[in-house]
Amino acid sequence: MQSLAKNHAYAGQRLKKMSSPRRRTFASFLKDRPPARNVGLRSGTVSLIVCVCVALIGTEAWQSHQVYRDNIRRNEIVTQNTARSMAEQAETTLVTADTIVASLVERVEAEGTGPEARTRLYHLMTSLAAALPAIHEMGIMDSRGNAIVKSLVAHPVGLNYAERDYFRFHATHTDRGPLLGERIKSKVDGTINVTVTRRIDNPDGSFAGVVVTSVAMSFFQHLFDQVQAKSGGIISLFADDGTFLVRSPPMPEDVASWAVAGSGELGVQLRRHPDAGTVTFTSVVDGVRRRGAYSRLGLFPLTVLVAQSEWDIQSSWRTELRTHAIILGCVLIVVITLGRRAAKATRMLEQQALQDGLTGLPNRRAFDARLEQELRRAERSGQPLSVIMIDIDHFKAYNDYHGHFAGDECLRAVANTIRNCLRRASDFAARYGGEEIVVVLPGADAGQARAVAHAMRRSVRLLAAPQADHLGGVVTFSAGVATYWPGEAAGLRALLDDADAALYAAKAAGRDTIMP
Ligand code: GH3
Ligand code: MG
Ligand code: MG
Repeated sequence: MQSLAKNHAYAGQRLKKMSSPRRRTFASFLKDRPPARNVGLRSGTVSLIVCVCVALIGTEAWQSHQVYRDNIRRNEIVTQNTARSMAEQAETTLVTADTIVASLVERVEAEGTGPEARTRLYHLMTSLAAALPAIHEMGIMDSRGNAIVKSLVAHPVGLNYAERDYFRFHATHTDRGPLLGERIKSKVDGTINVTVTRRIDNPDGSFAGVVVTSVAMSFFQHLFDQVQAKSGGIISLFADDGTFLVRSPPMPEDVASWAVAGSGELGVQLRRHPDAGTVTFTSVVDGVRRRGAYSRLGLFPLTVLVAQSEWDIQSSWRTELRTHAIILGCVLIVVITLGRRAAKATRMLEQQALQDGLTGLPNRRAFDARLEQELRRAERSGQPLSVIMIDIDHFKAYNDYHGHFAGDECLRAVANTIRNCLRRASDFAARYGGEEIVVVLPGADAGQARAVAHAMRRSVRLLAAPQADHLGGVVTFSAGVATYWPGEAAGLRALLDDADAALYAAKAAGRDTIMP
């Protein structure tokens, strides 16, 4: 008995030599198969992974969007409340200043500005100024603009205010209402203040002078700074013409003009809804994109604006987004990795379901589907379709003599040899059952199929696998060839029956034979 292992090593060398670029792999065989339900399973797995990923990303995006919107909403509420309360505070301060001005006007008009009256007025004014931290100074001027009484200066001599805008206004207007002035520098101590003034009339209605109360901008600066330190962002108070009166944090040194608040996007929105509202704008002071709210004073042409930079508003959102993106990324990696493994496993299962485990050839199930497809193709193309049904001779005896394991090895070697004899891309061999192998040759007529069968027979003989001793010789096979021509009434079943009958005839004719 020859060593089968030796023979198989020999067969392996032969197989390598016979391997050609046209040798077909099982994967390429599957590729040619008509779509089966298994493909649905694979695409289902892929779809599931895609759906899970889209759902995760979608949920995260939606949640993130909610946080983003919540931040904006919170900013609106906080800035609206702050703007309203700062406006009320400013209004109260200015109304207090005007109340003082109005009562001083009444007193001057009733009691005049004689020496005694001046002394009483001075004491009144200094005590009021001491009690009210927002009031910087109070003053009374005569019709030529000379200071008569000033709360900061006991004996004002040589102080003239005739050039001040408010003085010129009252000198030329009989209106007795309050006038809010611009930011001015105090002649006494150089501080920046805003004036609230009223005209004093003589009994005949002619111009007698002006009472002025200056409100310290440092008071608002301090107030705004305190609030701003807690909330961040900016708080500013500006006039209708856009002139800033106060800004926290203070106006940067390099910003020359204070008359800028009403310009740009902010100005457009303020003009649209002057009393109160929310606003998004790019600051003309520092170019920062901000969101916030404004509130206009009821009795004075001033507006308080409270805003935060969009970058700061969304800082918590950014932190959350970063963390969630990392977590989501990890989850996606896990999902995709597991999904790919599942898809790979599915693919392997699909292959296994259609592949014969022993020989690696397509199994009967794959063969049935593929043969049907080839038959339809033959009908369309008008080409013949040949089948070779192969059965190993005396294989039972081989098994009995060499053992079942050696029988498996031999079957594998024969299957490989047959497969390597295929030359066209559309040719294929499948394990039909037991030790029967069926070969399908699309486009081959009976003569060509016979030639292929003979080439296979030779190659299998060349394997030189020794048969059982009592039979002698080497392993051979018998084969039956059948050909289908398009248009023939008999179909697939008849084709296989013909091949089977021919095989039977080959066996009957003594084996190691091809029929017809
Ligand atoms: P012949 O075909 O020449 O008439 O004789 P035979 O001995 O081959 O007869 P038959 O085809 O009826 O027997 C097939 C034998 O093949 C039976 C079984 O022991 C063997 N066989 C079928 N499948 C396998 C397999 O997967 N492995 C092994 N080792 N043997 C198999
Ligand atoms: Mg058999
Ligand atoms: Mg047999």
